[in-house]
Amino acid sequence: MKLIAYKYRFYPNNEQVTILAHTFGCVRFAYNSALGFSKAQYELGNKTNYNDWSKNLTQLKKNPNFSWLKAVSSVPLQQSLKHLDKGFKSFFKSGFGYPKFKHKHGNQSASYMSNGFKWSADKQSLTLAKMKQALKIKWSRTFTGTPSSLTVSKTKSGKYFVSMLVKEDVKQLPVVNKTVGVDVGIKDLAICSDGTKFNNPRLTNKYAKKLAKASRKLAKKKKGSNNFNKQKLALAKIHEKIANCRKDFTHKMTSTLINENQVIGIESLKVKNMVKNRKLSKHIHDANFGEIVRQLEYKADWYGRKVSAISQWFPSSKMCNECGLLYSGKWSLKIRNWTCKCGAVHDRDENAAINIHREGLRLAA
Ligand SMILES: [Zn+2]
Repeated sequence: MKLIAYKYRFYPNNEQVTILAHTFGCVRFAYNSALGFSKAQYELGNKTNYNDWSKNLTQLKKNPNFSWLKAVSSVPLQQSLKHLDKGFKSFFKSGFGYPKFKHKHGNQSASYMSNGFKWSADKQSLTLAKMKQALKIKWSRTFTGTPSSLTVSKTKSGKYFVSMLVKEDVKQLPVVNKTVGVDVGIKDLAICSDGTKFNNPRLTNKYAKKLAKASRKLAKKKKGSNNFNKQKLALAKIHEKIANCRKDFTHKMTSTLINENQVIGIESLKVKNMVKNRKLSKHIHDANFGEIVRQLEYKADWYGRKVSAISQWFPSSKMCNECGLLYSGKWSLKIRNWTCKCGAVHDRDENAAINIHREGLRLAA
């Protein structure tokens, strides 16, 4: 059994819009209070955790000034504290991605465990805690399992989505002989040891003009006016379009890699090092490297493939794949081609992909 995510758009009625707005606000409040508390305590030399935040929340609910917190389901409030806990753990483990305060104008979301919603498989209806009616969902795909948790969200452009985690059986793919090494790059999104290239769509660049134009238009409008709000929505829609294209492209790429190969070697920690380099980080964001590794790993788990993660210290780019010698001069990101002392001429990324392939197989064996 695997946990599979299914995401659907839904259309809330007026009552649901109100409840959701209230819930999103309370979730944001619970999360931000806990984050603020944790920061303040940290400066005093105290470490706090989920249990402390949860106690604080219980106290707040007893305070008449915050009684509005009781009007919404307690499940998403608790879940927001769990998310913060996860955020801190991942920050301490990786050293980046310190949890940020949630903003009123960002994407809104609330997560529910199974005690926060009712699912009826016969009627195919989903009802959230505190709501009288089931959500009007556009069922774009079907699933057979039972949802174990879900997240409802509202995008900046005002669309509502529900994303459910469903326990299901997944048929593994037949074993294949082919294996591959993947170098995630800037020029191409990914270069494979078998010669395949996945071109970086450089979506931000493609949409940069559109974005700039929409932003300029917004700057000219009077803040808070109808025209301002309209333009803000237009801008949010462009951002959503970019995010969707990026997601589609990444999914197509990782599915192809998983379908065709039994073992996939990849430098999983590269993301972290590259994001530290500020000049590169815009492009990294563009290419969504962390997401590539995440998708490869869960798809490999579903379909019986193996992702072989290469150490960040492995010199994939500057080692000659023919003789094993390291590049002797000063290594830099600008070097695209180089010639080894043995005479072999290398394209930086293709050479890296071949080395990653070999190292991936060695580690997987
Ligand atoms: Zn060589």
